[in-house]
Amino acid sequence: SARSSAELIRAEGPVLAHNYHPLPVVVARAEGTWVEDVEGRRYLDMLAGYSALNFGHRHPKLIEAAHRQLDRLTLTSRAFHNDRLAEFAEGLAELTGLDMVLPMNTGAEAVESAIKVARKWAYRVKGVPSDQATIVVADGNFHGRTTTIVSFSGDPAARDGFGPFTPGFRTVPYNDLAALEAAIDETTAGVLIEPIQGEAGVVIPDDGYLTRVRELTRQAGCLFIADEIQSGLGRTGRTLAVEHESVLPDVLLLGKALGGGIVPVSAVVARREVLGVLGPGEHGSTFGGNPLSAAVASAVVDLLATGEFQRRASELGEALDAGLSALTGRGITAYRSRGLWAGVDIDPAIGTGREISERLLREGVLVKDTHGSTIRLAPPLTITREELHSALASLEKVLLQG
Ligand code: PLP
Repeated sequence: SARSSAELIRAEGPVLAHNYHPLPVVVARAEGTWVEDVEGRRYLDMLAGYSALNFGHRHPKLIEAAHRQLDRLTLTSRAFHNDRLAEFAEGLAELTGLDMVLPMNTGAEAVESAIKVARKWAYRVKGVPSDQATIVVADGNFHGRTTTIVSFSGDPAARDGFGPFTPGFRTVPYNDLAALEAAIDETTAGVLIEPIQGEAGVVIPDDGYLTRVRELTRQAGCLFIADEIQSGLGRTGRTLAVEHESVLPDVLLLGKALGGGIVPVSAVVARREVLGVLGPGEHGSTFGGNPLSAAVASAVVDLLATGEFQRRASELGEALDAGLSALTGRGITAYRSRGLWAGVDIDPAIGTGREISERLLREGVLVKDTHGSTIRLAPPLTITREELHSALASLEKVLLQG
């Protein structure tokens, strides 16, 4: 590109919807943990595309899988079979311990699909009277941006001006088992929660919460739907965040890293009794399960099957936790971390999350704020110990600038 970063940012203004407020950096290329802007300045990527880049930018195995598939077959639609889909579904079922896969594209689509599946299951299998099914969700949730999903968001900015909303959802406080138990009744199709709430600021429930959600949903005869679109696929030091409590949900939602940072791929993964309720014509997607996506996602599953990324996230997660612990009371008021994932609350006397993100940008580190005073750290799981220490040193430096 002949245009400078400043020129490109200015050029976007009149022609691009203003639904984001990006940091003032224009990325032009990337490799592994590092991105480079138009002027050739390098930045350590501590956001990793909101966990879509768990394997780093352009992981050689994923790029190779994509190239190989590009040279052979890219799209068929589901009007026909394609020769990559069986391997993708087999691999994902084996990786997760569930039975069946519904391939979609974006995270929000996976959530929407799971809502439809849970409702159909409630009517067909559980016997809920027609159009009476409810789904229990948690306060502080983030599941995406479609009209039905924002219907049960607690974030005013996500909702204001977008009604009328979809009925059939009950909201309870996150990490509150008594409220959850009280909200479940004979109309409940399922409980939809994030095992760790990412957008809320990496909010981790008490030990035992997920185990009890599993027990409550089983006893009530409703589905436990775990949205692991951000928490899953290695981020927390396990393949799935629910594994920290050895819990298996009935329905698992995956996205982001499933596409290897190359293509949008999401999936509803579930027990056969649940996904089995869908028949021909009842749900679909032109791009869902396309051979290019399936080839990349299969390569992602192969990477995760080695256990290497989960191990790195777990080991380096200890260094991340130790670094943040040392900064607590020195610019950080509190933090929550699991694996290579942390929500860090900045002392408001020092600056907003946005200001800290802008200062880190000037130090060559990319992060993103969430909810005013919180920044989120979620580097590629390929980050080295040295790179992690350097990011923490940059954070210390900008916090001490006061
Ligand atoms: N669910 C969770 C937990 C997420 O974090 C996100 C995205 O941040 C989504 C769903 C929505 O995914 P997408 O942006 O691909 O629609």
